[in-house]
Amino acid sequence: MKTMSNRTFRARRLPTHGAQSGWVALLPSRNQAPSLDRAITVDVVVVGAGFAGLAAATRLAQLDPKLSVAVIDADVVGNGASGRNSGFLIDLPHDISSGNFGVDAISKTSNEIAIARTAIQHYVRLAGENSWGKDVFDPSGKYSVAMTDAGTAHLAAYSSRLKSWGEAHEFLGAEQIAEVTGTRSFKSGLFTPASVMVQPAALVRSVADLFREPILLFERTPALVIETSPSGCLVKTPKGQVRASRVVLATNGHAESFGFGNGKLLHVFTYSSLTEPFDPGTLGGLRKWGATPALPMGTTVRRINGRDGDRILIRSRYTYNPKIEVSAGSMKSAGDLHDRKFAGRFPDHIHLKMQYRWAGALALTWNTVPLFGQVEDRIFAACACNGIGGTKATAAGIAIAELLVGHRSKLGEIFSEFENPKDLPPRPLVEVGARLNLAFREWHAGGE
Ligand SMILES: Cc1cc2nc3c(=O)[nH]c(=O)nc-3n(C[C@H](O)[C@H](O)[C@H](O)COP(=O)(O)OP(=O)(O)OC[C@H]3O[C@@H](n4cnc5c(N)ncnc54)[C@H](O)[C@@H]3O)c2cc1C
Repeated sequence: MKTMSNRTFRARRLPTHGAQSGWVALLPSRNQAPSLDRAITVDVVVVGAGFAGLAAATRLAQLDPKLSVAVIDADVVGNGASGRNSGFLIDLPHDISSGNFGVDAISKTSNEIAIARTAIQHYVRLAGENSWGKDVFDPSGKYSVAMTDAGTAHLAAYSSRLKSWGEAHEFLGAEQIAEVTGTRSFKSGLFTPASVMVQPAALVRSVADLFREPILLFERTPALVIETSPSGCLVKTPKGQVRASRVVLATNGHAESFGFGNGKLLHVFTYSSLTEPFDPGTLGGLRKWGATPALPMGTTVRRINGRDGDRILIRSRYTYNPKIEVSAGSMKSAGDLHDRKFAGRFPDHIHLKMQYRWAGALALTWNTVPLFGQVEDRIFAACACNGIGGTKATAAGIAIAELLVGHRSKLGEIFSEFENPKDLPPRPLVEVGARLNLAFREWHAGGE
């Protein structure tokens, strides 16, 4: 019989999220939760308050309201990737590491859709129960847009896949997509109605602010050490400690910082810029829309509206960053790229300045599966978002909560059938390979 031994896992590095995102900057200030300054004891400690950690705690509370849970994050809710993404909760297959968004395997497809829609339903329920406005959660659907004939061919191929799956969608020609975007730069578009557009920082804050005892939230509270023993586990933080019977790691790529998923996680950053506000009368089309690119390595564009005017968000560029941090040089280069992408799409608005620029971390696996389930005695992981954590990390959080309390569901079945993340090729190869692959794909995406 296997006996449990005492083990210690030290965080080799802590997250550094970098420049504040435009999403956080646009929100009013919020009363942060305290940082932990004492010793507490709970049933479960969740490390990481992004999509995965917040969903895990929320689902635990739904399934067993008596369970005490402490959620701790190294930073403030909204500062991590979950608060700094482009805000697309995509309900259809959208594998950013695949050449065609991963729409080729039928069995994979139906599971991907089930995962995405379970995550979206989770937020639909929270939005309904808490009367969230469309400034937080907007079930408006989303567009994919093509700048080139190659992009249009991809959208047409995607459209026939959607038709064969019986999924509602609308293919839009140049005139129709111009009516949406107010610019004639796009050659075509594809509308899918069941995706949701969110203000990501507002969404994660809204979820976190729902927590009430016995769910406790501690911000600016990094987990430095996790100790496990036959009697329980202990998470040590700079000024306190949490004793619990189980730990959920919802730290995305920082699972590796504790030694989990070593050699299996590919750390990639992507970048965003948000313009200064402009007079909505100067750009036709809808005042709110979001469009992902026709080719995976292309550019995401979003128009948002606020009290001070409208703004355009550009998200483009992926870089390989094995230390899970970005350099000033990468920020500058991505910013220059964003300016070019913006000018190419909105030539009448090139006078607009980018007011905010930021980057955020993704964790991919070679076989695009999550790092999920029990990874050690008493330690469970819901990590490796594979680039679309709005749905995938949320679903992983829900599924890990269900696993912890023994709740059976279709989602749980899907997660239990995932293979383990595969080993990446040896370090020098993966470094060169990842960089070349990202550069090649960016080149391949061309004008997209
Ligand atoms: C610019 C950008 C655009 C994107 N656009 C989209 C999009 O439109 N749609 C989509 O689905 N996805 C998008 N993504 C990806 C998405 O944001 C991520 O997949 C998602 O945030 C992952 O969620 P998570 O909860 O797994 O991890 P994270 O959001 O990274 O949360 C992990 C948390 O763990 C905390 N943490 C780490 N180590 C410790 C520690 N030792 N102690 C305590 N806390 C710790 C971190 O501070 C962090 O808050 C985008 C990402 C970026 C950067």
